[in-house]
Amino acid sequence: MAKRPSKHLRPARPILDNFAAAQTKADGRWMVANMPAGKANKNYLCPNCQQTISVGMAHLVVWPVDPSIGSASAVSERRHWHTACWKLRR
Ligand SMILES: [Zn+2]
Repeated sequence: MAKRPSKHLRPARPILDNFAAAQTKADGRWMVANMPAGKANKNYLCPNCQQTISVGMAHLVVWPVDPSIGSASAVSERRHWHTACWKLRR
């Protein structure tokens, strides 16, 4: 009988398939997560182009790794971006 590896040795599985990853931009470090089309159930305003991100449009959710001084939490600083707009950002 094969010995099963301890669960502590197995690689951690991301909890969500839209698991966030950190990206560094000119103005700091940002967590970026994918919002799949099937979960985009609200309209959002893209901070880059000021155009609506429509319901059902896959896009990105971005929030600062280090929340601004005075903000309750990084989550309150979440912004929704068009995927293309975020890619153009430096
Ligand atoms: Zn945009």
